[in-house]
Amino acid sequence: MSIPEKLKKVYEILEKPFAGEPLTMEETELLWGLEANSPEAFLLRCAGLRRALELSGGVAEIHAQIGLDAGPCVKNCAFCSFAKCNNPAGELKITPMAAVLDYARAFREAGANLLLLMSSAAFPFERLLEAAQRVRETVGPDMPLLVNTGDVTFEQALSLRRAGFNGAYHASRMSEGVLTDIPPETREQTMKNLVRAGLPLSFCVEPVGEEHTARQFAEKIALHLEYDPLTGGVGRRIPVKGTGVEDRRKLDQAEQARLIAIYRLLDGKTALAGSANATLAANSGANLCWAECGFNPRDFSGRTETDGVGRSVEYIAKIYAETGWELRNGPSPGWNMTTAR
Ligand code: SF4
Repeated sequence: MSIPEKLKKVYEILEKPFAGEPLTMEETELLWGLEANSPEAFLLRCAGLRRALELSGGVAEIHAQIGLDAGPCVKNCAFCSFAKCNNPAGELKITPMAAVLDYARAFREAGANLLLLMSSAAFPFERLLEAAQRVRETVGPDMPLLVNTGDVTFEQALSLRRAGFNGAYHASRMSEGVLTDIPPETREQTMKNLVRAGLPLSFCVEPVGEEHTARQFAEKIALHLEYDPLTGGVGRRIPVKGTGVEDRRKLDQAEQARLIAIYRLLDGKTALAGSANATLAANSGANLCWAECGFNPRDFSGRTETDGVGRSVEYIAKIYAETGWELRNGPSPGWNMTTAR
């Protein structure tokens, strides 16, 4: 049987990262343009998985997110259910503190490796500090606690650190400044502030839609890697009904898996990459996934774990079990667990 030339060419490209050679933009564009269920794309997904196993030692994690509020957020990201532009008459909706603590306890008992408190830019900052302190008292000193909130100054980042956070999720999103009211420079300055305050970063290149290019994708990865994040990854855009992007096409599972595999070949440093929210994704190199509860920017539920898009720790653990990943037992390592002064 003769092997088609294109398959041979893709194979040669895919071997480069394993030999320590970066992909060129032209090669990245070729991979980006592969039909998602073609033989070449299957080869790509296989390389993504191999690379992920090599970088991580075969260990996967589940990070658990608690949504603290649902805006309305004046930053107006068109893809977000919290945005004021998608909630013209909305009032600030907040998860009660008792519920936040119940969620934190339940996630810890379910075996989550890390907790993440997520708030919109409309959430009162003092309340975010209080939430960190209360959750810390509830889950003990060894559970990494991350914050995902609006853009912050260096002084605010220091306050977050002192309140008990051990890291932060932050990203300059795809189409930042176009589909959002936030200049990309503001997001980058926040990442600098967070890292300088002692909060290592978690990020994801998201939300990816079909209008985005290989170059934009590769540039976003390179930008975030400058901050030495502990986790990376890629997420497709969910066109939530009732938001400004509801008419855009959602990339399918095979396209998302292709993105993950390309991500894995472009980022040779980060051991954990999301999002392993389906077996196809986990089997293409994703070994990080977020369990979600409370408010979620990808639905209008308020209890995303019951009638929204949120997934449980148990659901994600099953994905890993079915795809050969070993789920870490215990806290996610590497975060800044020292006591801040
Ligand atoms: S994505 Fe974040 S900043 Fe943008 S509208 Fe939603 S909560 Fe606000």
